[in-house]
Amino acid sequence: MNRGGNPGSRSGIMNPYILAETTWKTIKDAAIELAILPWGATEAHNLHLPFGTDNIETEKIVKAAAGKAYERGAKIIVLPAIPFGVNTGQLDIRINININPSTQFSILKDIADVLNRHRIHKLLIANGHGGNDFRQMIRELGPVFPEMFISTCNWYQSVIQSDFFENPGDHADEMETSLMLFVAPELVLPLGEAGKGSAKKFRIKGLNEKWAWSERKWSSVTRDTGIGDPSKANREKGEKFFNEVVLKLCDLITDLSNADIHNMYE
Ligand SMILES: [Zn+2]
Repeated sequence: MNRGGNPGSRSGIMNPYILAETTWKTIKDAAIELAILPWGATEAHNLHLPFGTDNIETEKIVKAAAGKAYERGAKIIVLPAIPFGVNTGQLDIRINININPSTQFSILKDIADVLNRHRIHKLLIANGHGGNDFRQMIRELGPVFPEMFISTCNWYQSVIQSDFFENPGDHADEMETSLMLFVAPELVLPLGEAGKGSAKKFRIKGLNEKWAWSERKWSSVTRDTGIGDPSKANREKGEKFFNEVVLKLCDLITDLSNADIHNMYE
């Protein structure tokens, strides 16, 4: 399914499990168990990666995982990706697009309403941006759509990143740079043009230990918008990581598609 530098797409083929590529005729009577909603962000990614990085990564991973799951018999539909995320800590970074959590909740609720009306009762949000957190929204939607099973996943947490990459990070780092070198190398500037991605820590110990939390003011933490040194990134690391993440997500999609939502526990 992966051809050359364009993994996750089969050019010239309409994929019946991707809503944006399929027709009403194809899906109007199709059995669909699970809708998958990729959700990214539009934000600066150090000096060498594009603003659309989270969207590109997430769509490539979701489409590849969904393709494998479809071949295994999963009854699924991939919705178009939502390209804007919660970027409240980055409002002073030029043209970083923020949508507030309350806006995000409204969008999610409207999409769930459509699915619910058409008796597609399972929804998986495939999240690719650290500022997005759908868990509390899913709790609130439970009583609104009692027949639905709504879940979320962060693909970047599906495998242990230190198994693949030398330098840790969480934004435009070695992981994201390697991944982009695999899925969209034409959009990555030479690594020599990247900033170091060094980040300041809080002065308060509990916040750095992560059991206490506050939002980071991004422009006070990093000079180049990156967090994590991208200098050891390469395409091979990105390909290995992509393939493992796709396998994990494919399993999740398949399991959700097959699940009886009235019998979820053992
Ligand atoms: Zn990112």
